[in-house]
Amino acid sequence: MTSAPRTLFDKLWDAHVVVPETDSAPAVLYIDLHLIHEVTSPQAFAELRARGLKPRRPDRTKATMDHSTPTLPAGPDGRLPYYTKASETQVETLARNCAEFGIELFDMGSAGRGIVHVIAPEQGFTQPGMTIVCGDSHTSTHGAFGSLAFGIGTSEVGHVLATQCLLQRKPKSMSITVEGELAPGVGAKDVILHVIGAIGVNGGTGHVIEYRGSTIRAMDMEQRMTLCNMSIEAGARAGMVAPDETTFEYVRRTPHAPADFDAAVAGWRRLRTDDGAKFDAEVVIDAKDIRPTLTWGTHPGTAIAVDEPIPAAGDAAAKKGLDYMHFDAGHPLEGTPVDVVFVGSCTNGRLRDLREVAAVLKGRKVAPNVRMLVVPGSEIVKREAEAEGIDRIVREAGAEWREPGCSMCIAMNGDLVAPGQLAVSTSNRNFEGRQGPGSRTLLASPLSAAWAAVNGKVSDPRELFAEKKAVA
Ligand code: SF4
Repeated sequence: MTSAPRTLFDKLWDAHVVVPETDSAPAVLYIDLHLIHEVTSPQAFAELRARGLKPRRPDRTKATMDHSTPTLPAGPDGRLPYYTKASETQVETLARNCAEFGIELFDMGSAGRGIVHVIAPEQGFTQPGMTIVCGDSHTSTHGAFGSLAFGIGTSEVGHVLATQCLLQRKPKSMSITVEGELAPGVGAKDVILHVIGAIGVNGGTGHVIEYRGSTIRAMDMEQRMTLCNMSIEAGARAGMVAPDETTFEYVRRTPHAPADFDAAVAGWRRLRTDDGAKFDAEVVIDAKDIRPTLTWGTHPGTAIAVDEPIPAAGDAAAKKGLDYMHFDAGHPLEGTPVDVVFVGSCTNGRLRDLREVAAVLKGRKVAPNVRMLVVPGSEIVKREAEAEGIDRIVREAGAEWREPGCSMCIAMNGDLVAPGQLAVSTSNRNFEGRQGPGSRTLLASPLSAAWAAVNGKVSDPRELFAEKKAVA
């Protein structure tokens, strides 16, 4: 008897269900990898202690410090410049908890530390076919490897630590197919901003998205991570791309690749949606329709092409967004003066992103009205970028080259956009005050961000290619 065709998501779900869901109870889902950081773990460890419990699988739990960590180096006294005492305490608490419970930690002195969603793939902890959770919304990043990865709440962090399982209702499935070749100057960030603009911030609610089509297949792993990272911004529970040779080659080069790699790949090749499998929702997008894309409002669904006019406010929320951003409908974003440019985050803080930025900055200067911060996603990204001279190019252009961390993505560590200032940011959220109280954020690709920094205003990165302005 042959079984009915299944989606990739169905296969991953079925392989991890310990107890199926019923009308009255969610499923119990086994978790292969639990990632933790300093902000959402302290209460979970306190709960374990209060109940006299120990982590069920400390070997399947990995910790890093990223949200509250300074991006400036230690001072002459050897002390790191924490923004607040509370930040320092969070970091120290995570170190104590990991030591007490036997959890591997990439701490402040570690050569592998960085943003949780950057280090787990580069270490090879993230592998196809896994269920992966973390107390952070952008855990969807790991779906780029053909895993089922999603963010969980603080209380769920405690549940997973104690049981290595999670209670979950099965989401619906959605396919988003992008076909065709992207134009020069258009990248993965533009694709996902375009997708969210097309389906809306609630377009994926209750669904797990599988990204498919020739445009996605042509992307490298860093681009696929950018894409999956922002699935949550369309309301989706997770995003994923079926693993292929590009995935296998990336994982093969990581320190924690499976010992019997060929056997692992043989299993991973089955991680694809069967022909004839049905999705609950399907969206098809033509790559030709995607231009360099930025946001104009206070959520990622306000995405428009750089040369497109800001739309008229259709409702009170849009009006509020326009007012907050000090924008008028009917004008394109192109030409808008910029105060700050931030390159970094788990969306766009990887080596490929920094290379794109360096290619724009090389031989150019950041405009005098702009403060530009370039923050590598991890120590490994930083070392590799420095080996290529990217730090020198960034500094010579007049931008700041910082230590790895979340930095201005969430502005918990003191890397702030001042009230009223307008930032072009390669991060993933443009909510009111996300980059500091009163800050105004335009989400954009690394290319768009770098070109805006040079010109001092929102600019169309296709100019770099049309005028052959040497983007290597
Ligand atoms: S970079 Fe931003 S979105 Fe990513 S983990 Fe850090 S705070 Fe969260």
